[in-house]
This record gives sequence, C-alpha cells and structure tokens, in this order.
Amino acid sequence: MTHHPTAGATHLECTATGERYESETLQRLSDAGKPLFARYDLDAIRDLFTPAAVANRRADLWRYAEVLPVRDVGSRVCLGEGWTPLLDAPRLAARLGVGRVWIKEEGQNPTGSFKARGMALAVSRAKELGATAIAVPSAGNAGSAAAAYGAAAGLPVHVVVPMDTPAPIVAEIRALGADLQLLDGLITDCGRVVREGAERHGWFDVSTLKEPYRVEGKKTMGYELFEQLGGRLPDVIVYPTGGGTGLIGMWKAFDEMEALGWIGPDRPRMVSVQAAGCSPIVRAWEAGEEHADPWADAYTYASGLRVPSAVGDFLILDAVRASGGAAVAVPDGEMQRWVDAVGADTGVFAAPEGGAVASAVEQLRAAGGIAADDEVVLFNTGSGLKYVGMDPID
Ligand SMILES: *Cc1c(COP(=O)(O)O)cnc(C)c1O
Repeated sequence: MTHHPTAGATHLECTATGERYESETLQRLSDAGKPLFARYDLDAIRDLFTPAAVANRRADLWRYAEVLPVRDVGSRVCLGEGWTPLLDAPRLAARLGVGRVWIKEEGQNPTGSFKARGMALAVSRAKELGATAIAVPSAGNAGSAAAAYGAAAGLPVHVVVPMDTPAPIVAEIRALGADLQLLDGLITDCGRVVREGAERHGWFDVSTLKEPYRVEGKKTMGYELFEQLGGRLPDVIVYPTGGGTGLIGMWKAFDEMEALGWIGPDRPRMVSVQAAGCSPIVRAWEAGEEHADPWADAYTYASGLRVPSAVGDFLILDAVRASGGAAVAVPDGEMQRWVDAVGADTGVFAAPEGGAVASAVEQLRAAGGIAADDEVVLFNTGSGLKYVGMDPID
C-alpha cells in the first residue's frame, strides 16, 4: 500500500472518556459504548494544509484529504460527493426577515442527499481495513448511499429500512444492487436486525456514529462553508437533526480549523431542528439534560428526522449549548409549507428536512433567537424528489 505522507489519522479517541484506540483496524463504538473520533497530527500538517493550498483542488470532499482517515488514494470510493453549492437566497431572506440567507444545497450529492458524504468515507475506510460486506439500518437515505458506495467499491451491502420508507428511496436501493429488508418498525428496530446479521455473518455495521468515519465525511461541510464564504463562517447554522452526524461533524471541523489556524475561537450558533412528532433532542435541550431519552411513537414524513434515539445525543446537545444555539421542533405541515416557499423563492426543490430548517428560522425570528442582521446558513440535506408521494402527517 502506498501511503500519502500526510493522510490518515494518528488514533481514535472516545468522545466520552478520551480513551485512545488504534485507528488501523476496524472499530465501532468505544468500550464505554460511545462514538469514536478520528484524531490527526494537526501540528504536522499546519503549514501545508492551508486555505490557499486547498483552494485549487478537486471540487469534491477529497480536497480535505489531510484531515480524512483514508490512507491510500487508491482506496477512495468516489461518486462526486461534496463541494455542493452554497446558494445566496435573498428572496427567502426577505420572507424570513433575516439579513442574509444561504442554502447549502446537499440534494446535489450522489444519491440525492448528504448521506453520500458519510458513506463515501465509511465505505472507503471499511474496505481499506478489510471489511468484506457492509450493513446499515436506515430511515432511507443512508441505505441508498450505502448501496451506492458499496456497489462502487464492489462490496455486498445489506440494508434494513422501515416499511413506509419513501418509494423512490426503496426503488433506488434495489436498483443499486443491495440486499434490502423492509421492516414493520422504526430505524431503531432495523438496527437490531443489522446487529444480528453482523454477528452471524460478519457484516460491517456502518450505523450512524457507531463507526468512526461517517462523521469524518460529514464534517467536510464545515470546511466547505468556510471556503465558500470566502474564509469565514456564518452567524447561525440551521441543521435538520436525526442522528446528528452533520452537526457533530461540523462542530468537530471547527475545532480542527481553529487548531490549524484557519479560524479563531468564535463559532456559529448551531440550531438543531427536529420534527414535532420526533424531537428527543429538543425535549432534552429544553429540560437542560445532557442526554436525550428515546422518543416514544415517533412519526414524521421527513424520514431523515424519524430517529427516536441518537447515540451522539450528548455531542449534539453540547454543540448547541456551547455555541449559544437552540433546538426547535417543527410540525410536518409547516415543513411542507416551507418546502413550497423555499422552492418558489430559490429554485431549490427541498426535502421536508430542508423545509423544516426554514420553518425553524421563522420560529426563532419570532422568539428572538435569530436577529434581523444575522447571516444564516440553511441545510437542505436532500432532494425533494426522494419524497414524492409522501404526505405530511401533522
Ligand atoms: C439522514 C438525514 C437527515 C439527518 O441527518 P443526521 O446527520 O443523521 O442528523 C436530515 N435530512 C435528510 C434528508 C437525511 O437523509
């Protein structure tokens, strides 16, 4: 194997205890049952890995190779992930009464959602470390992203999704050659089926934050925002939260960027947005809890937000609190209303999750959490095309 001199992590670290783990074997959760973060020798790359050095690199997330875990360039599984447009949205800003609004248009990723970022890294790295089959429980988009990257890598993929997953996503997973199981239950129930298969057949389980590298793919959104805004970060980032990988990943990226000298200690306020029918993080934030209790009877047509319990709950709550942000719940009907407003104002056909973040800004403007002169980035995490035929539940 040829090793790029600057690529790869030095080790992994438990996000709860700080305990160190070996990064060159397949790893999942720490012994404490918490997510592991990849750590890099940032001092060693500081002089070479600069905004100026990165500026003219390829327009995908591999431009940040020095802070990604894949060692061998030949191990990269690429479908064109990352470097999505950051779109100025002045009419939406006027409608929301906010100084400036940008949409980070993640629907343009392979498989039509930002799950591609995480799966590009998780699958590349799993293959590099010797995995022979991938498995994932999914609310939908993680399944199709895993199927796509598994197909590109030549690895078999096993996906377990709830029976009422949007039909376009089910069709996509099948077309990408994955072994698909539809379950009468939620993503947490799908997780149990995947765990059994992993034990019995040796599948490598790439569940959200239960292996260390999906978050590394998602963190690249933080680096991209900095570059695309011309070398700074916005006042507020509004993120639709299921497992929270992107929010946690961007928060990690900001710490790395500070250690690298790209930014100072200031951070955007991180706003976590959930569905009214499934908002464990919002409930925990309002109650001042460090962890979020599982949400009973979760429902929402925004399938990416139908996550009743997140292993990274404490990391999401930490980032929201430390940044002076907020957590906001949005009913499905409001998501749909804002999908239409975003579409008419910007030309982006947003997923319900993208409608949810616009609705959250409306709520926070009224409640004072976002000011008239704030610069706000809204994450549209997927394409509206993947939800055609799905109706709001409340
Ligand atoms: C998975 C998903 C989310 C939630 O992402 P997390 O990083 O798990 O919080 C939001 N929107 C869409 C479209 C998704 O597929």
